[in-house]
Amino acid sequence: MGRIHVLPDQVANKIAAGEVVERPASVVKELLENSLDAGADDIRVEAEGGGRRLIRVADNGCGMLRDDALLALERHATSKLSRVEELECIATLGFRGEALPSIASVSRMVIETRAAEEPCGARVEVAGGRILSVSDCVRPAGTTITVRDLFFNVPARRKFLRTEQTELAHIASLVTHYSLAHPARSFELVHEGRQLLAAAPVASAAERVFQVFGAETLEELIELEPREAAEGRFQLSGFISRPQVQKTNRNSIFLFVNRRLIRDRLLLHAISAAYANLMPPSAFPFALLFLDCDPGEVDVNVHPSKTEVRFRAASWVHDFVRDALREALVESRPAPAAPLPSLPAPEGSQPAARLPYSEFTQALEDFRLPGIQPETPRSVLPELSLSAPPAPPPRLDLQPLAQTAPAETSSTRDIQSGSQPVASPYAEPARELPAEERGRLRVPDTHAALPQGLVLDPPSSMAALENVRILGQLHDSFIIAAGPDGLWIIDQHVAHERILFEKFLDRLTRGRSEQQRLLLPLILTLTPAQEADYQRIAGELARAGFETEPFGHRTIAVKAAPADLPPQSVEQVVFEILEIAEAEMRRATVEDFRAALAASLACRAAIKINTRLEPEKMEWLVRELARTRYPMSCPHGRPVALRYSNRDILRSFHRI
Ligand code: ADP
Ligand code: MG
Repeated sequence: MGRIHVLPDQVANKIAAGEVVERPASVVKELLENSLDAGADDIRVEAEGGGRRLIRVADNGCGMLRDDALLALERHATSKLSRVEELECIATLGFRGEALPSIASVSRMVIETRAAEEPCGARVEVAGGRILSVSDCVRPAGTTITVRDLFFNVPARRKFLRTEQTELAHIASLVTHYSLAHPARSFELVHEGRQLLAAAPVASAAERVFQVFGAETLEELIELEPREAAEGRFQLSGFISRPQVQKTNRNSIFLFVNRRLIRDRLLLHAISAAYANLMPPSAFPFALLFLDCDPGEVDVNVHPSKTEVRFRAASWVHDFVRDALREALVESRPAPAAPLPSLPAPEGSQPAARLPYSEFTQALEDFRLPGIQPETPRSVLPELSLSAPPAPPPRLDLQPLAQTAPAETSSTRDIQSGSQPVASPYAEPARELPAEERGRLRVPDTHAALPQGLVLDPPSSMAALENVRILGQLHDSFIIAAGPDGLWIIDQHVAHERILFEKFLDRLTRGRSEQQRLLLPLILTLTPAQEADYQRIAGELARAGFETEPFGHRTIAVKAAPADLPPQSVEQVVFEILEIAEAEMRRATVEDFRAALAASLACRAAIKINTRLEPEKMEWLVRELARTRYPMSCPHGRPVALRYSNRDILRSFHRI
């Protein structure tokens, strides 16, 4: 009795229908998923001509019984599903029974397979969907499927294929990411004899990340403590980048639900929300997330190529992921290295990990996410749709005052753009010397000893800030400090902004704000729109520590303002808050509004750059910063501090 059967019509009709074979990478995806479903722990993918000329996926899985090898080519023939109810809780990657027939109809395919319990294997040859031959074959248990000349009989499809390099990059990205999701299995990718990926089984996801991307990338990532929720029905694990690693698009976000690579707006939004106020809204992190759950919690029968899912408890899942990431970010308090890193770091990574494209992530990019920005409130999520995207919501402009911004960016750019971590003018000529001369110029022994008590590989955490010694101020704007783990440069404005932001937000949330009375009430004249906004947010203003009251026709009197806010900024801040109210309040949650309000107050109240600070003030600032929940970036996502690690300094002076 075979394992594969053709689904009855009433089940087949319930399956999300549509095209599965768009390009070589879609073939690889389907074959790879079949191998994983077959329990294979050794999978080898071979390709030629970017997958157009040849794709071969060989596995050591359960194989197919002889009769099944033929049946597998029928539409809706599957071993993974039989009854309608099972559609509700799919635990395998495949379930539609359509991949093999779809691929076979647009290529020349050979299936070679043997089930462990049968002495002899089967070989089936198909071209353009027609079975050409069926014969016995001798082979180890497992399956090898060879797909040649993809779209040979569909010229229109062939025309849409991109260059060989692009198609190959899609394949490489796919195999790479499936290998990350299954560290215990072995994956290999070979293109025209060149090995692009070789990942032997390892014990943990971290080891697999190291294997595939190299040590540098692993160092830039925060590993999430695996966590469970809802009585073990959900588990989350994976890796996220420090907020300093900022990508311009979502191409470095990889989401797996039950080890299936998917794209999902809800989870993307949760990631953005976790990084809100830590990263500029236009930047994106690197993320590799594995959400595993009861199959019943998620509907995978949503999209023909099974790349979208629908969670039953969508908003709960959103918050679970957001909070888990946020906590991991807060806990690890990662210190930004100088110069700022970029990811994935090519050095030490396998060739497949370095190819630039990914079908899924590219699709994520194409799949414009209209409202999904860190500040976008959760309440707008259900309205998002792929067709007719609404106009993006107005962005908050929370940049600091014009006079402070240019000076800040130009001062930090010098640091970040240098290719050497510390200026090291002697490095290049020394390296270029011929070997024999280099011998003569050997560094004297007195230079060889390392400074005493030096920590070479300290945990790069902002917690180290508690133990730094202030050395002075650079350009009246940056605090320079020495710590056991290296040299720190701290942006005084941004640092103070972070301290105040957390303080204001805390007061706003708890509704206990400290006030200062103004000597004279400040009378402000509002436009009709501002007046309407004022009425809506008067309560929040009061919570923030403003005492205001209507004062005749379209004017208000401000009698008191939050403590810490310089009195001369009060007018500007009130108008700024009204502006935030106009832009955001209609859609934002109260929390979002409060965060924006706190950011605005913090920005106005913070010490400006180009301000000379007394040593005691610098001490105070750095200690307070160390005490914040999140000392790494300002509420707008700019870094607070840069650290030149001991290792980088020593490396630049050629001492290691
Ligand atoms: P689905 O994966 O949705 O069931 P497919 O068309 O991809 O549909 O495959 C049809 C059937 O062929 C599978 O259900 C499985 O029984 C069998 N099959 C396909 N590939 C393999 C493989 N690599 N190893 C073992 N069985 C396989
Ligand atoms: Mg399948």
